[in-house]
Amino acid sequence: GFQTGPLVDPAQAKVPGGTMIAIDAISKWYGDFQVLTNCTTKVSKGEVVVVCGPSGSGKSTLIKCVNALEPFQKGQITVADTKVMDKATNLPKLRSRVGMVFQHFELFPHLSITENLTIAQRKVLGRPKEDAQKRGLDLLARVGLSAHANKYPGQLSGGQQQRVAIARALAMNPIVMLFDEPTSALDPEMVGEVLDVMVELARDGMTMMVVTHEMGFARKVADRVIFMDRGEIVEDAKKEDFFGQPRSERAQQFLSKIL
Ligand code: ADP
Ligand code: MG
Repeated sequence: GFQTGPLVDPAQAKVPGGTMIAIDAISKWYGDFQVLTNCTTKVSKGEVVVVCGPSGSGKSTLIKCVNALEPFQKGQITVADTKVMDKATNLPKLRSRVGMVFQHFELFPHLSITENLTIAQRKVLGRPKEDAQKRGLDLLARVGLSAHANKYPGQLSGGQQQRVAIARALAMNPIVMLFDEPTSALDPEMVGEVLDVMVELARDGMTMMVVTHEMGFARKVADRVIFMDRGEIVEDAKKEDFFGQPRSERAQQFLSKIL
């Protein structure tokens, strides 16, 4: 069964190979303020890309552009074969294929864990209740929280809630997963349990774009590291090159502060 199977739904193997996320010369303004300047990068199928950089450098804005939570004024983003800022694009469908996990868990506080795991499967994907529950509970088992199915979010620790949030995103069979500092609001003793789930997901072959300052995670599973500063992608390098010798002085300074 699924419990011993992959976290990544085998159905996503049907997505054509190659580039899963193409970010092509994106620029974005908030009013007069230019928050992103000519950002270009690609994430290939199965690749794990860590995005780091100082606070305010545009990391959250960039990944929000990928699932159209933020509009952008220039450039193009394509997820699998879907253009993000295109009038013809079905945004709910796109978002259902792009899993997103934020710093704050954002579970529905008035719904049980099982209901949290099934509501979008039922309402967005139209899955029958039994199928949605099976998928939800299988994923809950995978993140080690089967015993908590009937509890409410407030009864779980922050780390447990974040694992539920990851399971909830995976329940939608996303083709890519975006993470925005998923461990930075957690007490230190809970960071590891969330990173462990993310490591397993990465090793299962999920395509992931992860904003994090957890460089241990980056060293373990990242294929590439993107370093942003003042709205620009300053460095986009293979992990080995980034940690070995970042080219830019700004990345070197950043690394020397956080390592
Ligand atoms: P990061 O995630 O790297 O900390 P953000 O993408 O959150 O950076 O923010 C980048 C810059 O854009 C910051 O200067 C921030 O103050 C600004 N910013 C973020 N969201 C908004 C918004 N909704 N309106 C105006 N400015 C914003
Ligand atoms: Mg941010």
